[in-house]
Amino acid sequence: MKILITGGAGFIGSHLAHLHLQKGDRVHVVDDLSTGRRANIALHLGLSRFTFSEADIVTWDGLNDAARAADRIYHLAAVVGVRRTLEDPVRVVKTNIAGTERVMRAIEKSGRRPEVLVASSSEAYGFNPRPMFSESDDLLLHSRDHLRWCYAVSKLTDEFIAYSYAEKFGFKLTVARLFNTIGPRQVEHYGMVVPNFVKQAVTGRPITVYADGSQTRSFADVRDTVRALDLLAGSPLAPGETVNVGADQEISILDLARLVRERADSQSEIVFIPYREAYGEDFEDITHRRPCLDKLFELTSFQHRWTLTATIDDLITRARAELGLLETKELHPG
Ligand code: UDP
Repeated sequence: MKILITGGAGFIGSHLAHLHLQKGDRVHVVDDLSTGRRANIALHLGLSRFTFSEADIVTWDGLNDAARAADRIYHLAAVVGVRRTLEDPVRVVKTNIAGTERVMRAIEKSGRRPEVLVASSSEAYGFNPRPMFSESDDLLLHSRDHLRWCYAVSKLTDEFIAYSYAEKFGFKLTVARLFNTIGPRQVEHYGMVVPNFVKQAVTGRPITVYADGSQTRSFADVRDTVRALDLLAGSPLAPGETVNVGADQEISILDLARLVRERADSQSEIVFIPYREAYGEDFEDITHRRPCLDKLFELTSFQHRWTLTATIDDLITRARAELGLLETKELHPG
């Protein structure tokens, strides 16, 4: 099978590329390396079944040819995360909105009907008051702080653009709303909580819990996430569906800090940082986030293989190896 992955040198995209190469597929990755990294795909660069194009999807002149060649397209290229959005909202409009439309137009022009999976985000649910977020829930975005919701709106717009093209041009589209995803190759530069806590715990620095740490999240291992995406993209039942992808074990950020500290056998102090200090402004955090995964389980045979503790143990081992504190042979493969 020929697979095109936009954003395929990023954290999730590179694991997806790895999965498909392991399955024997041909993989074409396009990535502008804005947050993606060449190191994420370095292992594949010499493979004849792997092609890498360093390009921005908004301007890439190879897009039409790549779309025409693909049996399956994963559209992951995006400016990701609320805080990066706040730094450069215009870039979000260009990459997330114009980029998605350009990818859909390329599929239209190809005249083919590939399997298409578009990555959306749990952020689209906004301040959902329900304990578990279901795909049929109403979406609750606040009217104030207009730029705060730019990312969520860009992802909702992507969903809408993709559905419009799929309906009109008859290709198989599935939208995956990705919940918090963690695992190897996720870097801490963008403030993501798990890589931050792991690095802090293994180096003995204070573990920085924002606010009082009562906010909750549910973390999925990226190696599970990409298997779910593959199953969804190939499921005959999934086209036309928006599906949550993640894990449904909820944990407070304070308990997460305690868990990471305990698993790393670390003496790090847990410190509480006000949101204002952490984000440099009056940031409105999501208080809780947990997916209902019934639809994912109904549409696919997906089962999780990783627990939060197993992923954290793996990340601690990797962080120690990177810091030269451990032999790399102790690492889990993948
Ligand atoms: N967080 C934290 N300490 C950190 C980084 C993040 O307490 O060093 C909190 C953050 O405020 C949020 C949660 O952890 O409540 C998850 O943050 P992340 O950026 O990983 O994901 P998202 O906010 O997109 O769910």
